Parts: sequence; structure tokens; C-alpha cells
Amino acid sequence: MKKVHIFNAGPCKLPQPAIEAGIEALKDFKGTGMSVIEISHRTKEWESIMDETVALWKELYNIPEGYHVLFLGGGASTQFCYVPFNLLNKKAAYLDTGVWAHKAMKEAKLFGEVEVVASSESTTYNHIPKGWTIPTDADYFHITTNNTIYGTEIKEDIDSPVTLVADMSSDFMSRPVDVKKYGLIYGGAQKNVGPAGVTVVIVREDILGKVNRTLPTMIDYRTHIKGGSMFNTPPVFPIFIMHETMKWIKAQGGLEAIQKMNIEKANLLYNEIDNNPMFKGTVIDKADRSLMNVCFVMEDKYKEKEADFLAFSKECGMAGLKGHRSVGGFRASIYNACTMEDVQALVACMQEFAKKNA
Ligand SMILES: *Cc1c(COP(=O)(O)O)cnc(C)c1O
Repeated sequence: MKKVHIFNAGPCKLPQPAIEAGIEALKDFKGTGMSVIEISHRTKEWESIMDETVALWKELYNIPEGYHVLFLGGGASTQFCYVPFNLLNKKAAYLDTGVWAHKAMKEAKLFGEVEVVASSESTTYNHIPKGWTIPTDADYFHITTNNTIYGTEIKEDIDSPVTLVADMSSDFMSRPVDVKKYGLIYGGAQKNVGPAGVTVVIVREDILGKVNRTLPTMIDYRTHIKGGSMFNTPPVFPIFIMHETMKWIKAQGGLEAIQKMNIEKANLLYNEIDNNPMFKGTVIDKADRSLMNVCFVMEDKYKEKEADFLAFSKECGMAGLKGHRSVGGFRASIYNACTMEDVQALVACMQEFAKKNA
């Protein structure tokens, strides 16, 4: 198989052992003589995968009592409406840090008043807004911890006087999280914890059941708590790969070890961006730089070399470096499964390009 250094933004690189285990389970699931996609989800073989996956989430994130871990369909985008449906009576507060935050706000407006606490939209979201206060009369405060498109990240668990809700789609399981500071955390799996098709929700039970509206069965988190995420047929194969990905994270030494590796990878790459004469970073405040999505552009005087670098990076065996169209330039997504070797190869490719062109 062709060797590629994968820097795709999502879907993206996953741990090889998880993919290998997926191939085996597709052929023969736990010696049942059936594929994981052929067996009933009501069998003990499958139920043990569900239970173990929940247990791994609880263990790795150190999730306290009172919280539930749910595996749903619909992607993070469907959670943009689940959240206000279940939690918004009168007013919700949102931090506008990018397109995903914006989309989440748009849904909330269907259910009540939305107060935008701060926004960095006017500067194409090149930083995390600072110095805002959370309104104490809001039903909840919503943040996007990692802004996949712009490469900014809120790397600490903030204190909130009201229920804190976080879209962690693109930095899920990339560092230890103090879950008790949050009422609800959600994310699509396809950036750090599995393939597309499963959405993970971590919710504290006591925040539910407080809205005045009647909830459709499938949109009510309590349905899925009660049904153990099997009220309807769960996305079995994505959950299986997620199970294997969780096992891989644990085998790496858990989230402290994962975080340490993520910091080392990001430091190496940002260091090259800052020191290479041809490139510069797009995030103005270095403290806001994402450890997951590293965004950079050509220095102004080399602007016309952009396409050349993309072509050259492909020759070097790199995939997925083209930046999002709203930012331009380049984006290297270096999620958990991306290795130090991948990042070293990218750095070498940037250095070689500069040697030839600067
Ligand atoms: C990718 C992404 C989403 C959308 O996820 P889907 O599962 O495709 O709906 C939402 N929020 C963030 C931060 C993302 O990176």
C-alpha cells in the first residue's frame, strides 16, 4: 500500500490498530461466524462492545457520577438543534469563534433568544475573543473548544456560572478534560475518536427535563439515556472502530500521554512555520493556536508559490494540506493518530521547499 502522511481535517487519520481490528470484525466478529455488520445489536457480543466503549470514555475522561455517555447518529450538526431543544427555555449565550459556532447559534435562535457573548468574525476568526462575561440569566453557555477551520483552540476548561455546553468535535480526547465543569459535551467522532457516523454526547442528567416544550422522542436525551443508546439501531461499525480507538488511546498511556504527544507535534510544526522564511501562521495570538489544526500561509512575497507548495507536498507523500477556502493557504490537521514521524516529514518537506525557492 502506498505510504501517505495524512493531514486531512475530517474524516482523518485513525490509529492503524483500530483499522486492522475493524477489518477483522467485518470478516468475523468475536468468532461468531458473522460480521459485526451482520449480527443483531441485541446480542451479548454486541452489548459488551457498547458497555466497554462507554466504560472507556468514562475511564479516559474521568467522568464523574451523574453523567451519561451517549452514542447517537446525525453528526455534531444535529446536536446544534438537540442542545437548544433540550435546554433552552428563554435565553442562551454563545461564543462566536467560527463557522461551526455560528451554525450552532442559528439553530438556537429557533428556540429562544441568543446572546452572542463575543465574536471574532470581523477578523475571520483568527483569535479567540477575550474579556467577555457570561450572562448569569442564560439557560446555558455554548462554546466550540477547537475551531477546525481557523486553527484556534480554547485549551482550558473555563468556569461558567451557568450550564456550560461544548462542541468538542475536533479536540475530543486530545487532552484531559475536567468534565464536571460542563453540563454537556458533544462531538462528531470523525476527527479524533472514530469514523463518521457516530456522535458522542456526555450529559449531566440533572440539566435535563427543565424545558417547557414537548420533546419529540428521538430528540429527547432522556430517551437515549434510558435506552442505553439503543433506543434505535446504533451505528454499529463506527462504534466498533471508536471502541478500538479508545483502546488505542488507553494503550498510549491515556490522555496525559496523548496530550504530551500532541503538544510536541504542534510545537515542532509551529516552530517550523515561525522560522521558515516562506511561511507564516494565521492565528495572531500564539496562546490561541490549536494543537489539532495548524493553519499557515505563504509569506506575502511568496504568495504566488502556494500552488507549487501544495503540488510539492503531494510529491513528498502528504495528503490534505489545502486550507479551508475561507482562510486559504494550508492546514495540517494533526489529530491524535497523526504521528511525530508524519509531522517530521512535513517539516522536512517545508524545509526542502524553502531551500529550493526562498
Ligand atoms: C466537523 C465539525 C462539526 C460538524 O460535524 P458533523 O459531524 O459533520 O456534523 C461541528 N463542529 C466542529 C467544531 C467541527 O469540527
